Amino acid sequence: MSKTLLIRASLLTPLDANRWQYISDGGLLIKAGRIVDVDRIEQFADGRDRNTLELDGLLVPGFADVHIHWVQHHVRGRFQTDLMEWLREHIWPEEAGFEHAGLAHGHARAFFSDTLRAGTTLGMAYSSPHDDALRIAAEHARGDWILGNAIMEKSAPEPLRRASPDNADAVAPLLEELGTAHYAITPRFALNCSARLMGELGELAQRTGAFVQTHLSESPQEIREVHEAFPEARDYTDVYDRAGLLTPRTVLGHCIHLSQREYHTLAQRRSWIAHCPSSNEALDSGRMNLEAIRRHRLRFALASDVGAGPSHSMLHVMQRFVDQHRAAGVPVTPEEALYRATQAGADCLGRGREAGSLTAGKRADFVLLPRPAGKAGIEDWFEELLRGDAADLERRPLQTWLGGTPVSPDPVT
Ligand SMILES: [Zn+2]
Repeated sequence: MSKTLLIRASLLTPLDANRWQYISDGGLLIKAGRIVDVDRIEQFADGRDRNTLELDGLLVPGFADVHIHWVQHHVRGRFQTDLMEWLREHIWPEEAGFEHAGLAHGHARAFFSDTLRAGTTLGMAYSSPHDDALRIAAEHARGDWILGNAIMEKSAPEPLRRASPDNADAVAPLLEELGTAHYAITPRFALNCSARLMGELGELAQRTGAFVQTHLSESPQEIREVHEAFPEARDYTDVYDRAGLLTPRTVLGHCIHLSQREYHTLAQRRSWIAHCPSSNEALDSGRMNLEAIRRHRLRFALASDVGAGPSHSMLHVMQRFVDQHRAAGVPVTPEEALYRATQAGADCLGRGREAGSLTAGKRADFVLLPRPAGKAGIEDWFEELLRGDAADLERRPLQTWLGGTPVSPDPVT
């Protein structure tokens, strides 16, 4: 039987979008990879049958990134142009290279090592269309990941179209192989798929309860092209809705330029929004209308959208979330930033009971951050922690733990 471990550290965990709990001198009791108890340190009586460990810092739950393209990690933030040009000129030619297994292995190792180093323990990622690149990512995954190969049957370079499934029967075996907890049906976005194919994928999603990930309403040019390609649909959201692709397990990247009718539809379907503020800034896509999202009570979580997003650091994404909306006069608290990058992300990915907070019963996945110093309140400290450029923030976590074990930075051997 594994021994229990009592960790003494400062603790900070989200309660909901507006509140968190801070324990300056806390104890976290762990057994068999799970959190057993969380409290002030003096509440823990001496235990003979356990190890204790003092950590010089503050623990928060592991971060969740609900929209990231692992195959773009090595070119993240490199090209700053508008969405459609960025995809066609830079990203799709780059992704075509993932038909080579050697390249896919190397990039997958780097991706999962870097995301863990930055504190991400849970995520949902787009792969290239290639089946084998998807399998390679699944093999190297560290932490809890949901993966999907981007489905691109049209309007893409020939090598990507050739590699892509063009019917649901070609997708179902991958779903079977990885399982519904770890595979997401991934029509890349409406322009890469016919209405027929999306209908088949929607039927598969409804029948199996699988996750779906796609992009919705990121740039005005994209929206114009979608209207031309699907004249029968009322709007961009309706293209997916007609196909049956909008479910409570659907995660929609961006959702920047939506009409009232589209907000209503998303609210009715209870689909999730992956809000990617740093990516939206990098491609100058516009600001997601946070006020409308709140008014319609839409469910959303934060995401990096690497490689349009310049960094896989969720601390950097939280910084851009706070700054971008505040600059538009919309209030955002540090409590909400942490919640959207942890518990909301876990809820979005169907892991709300497993991850997302420091709560008894959940997996012991967490991140050690530098200890709050001086007399500043915990809100001020957290805002200070989010300062710095992307490279600083990628390396700000002191340690990442998975299932009660420190895993990053990689132990020196
Ligand atoms: Zn994306």
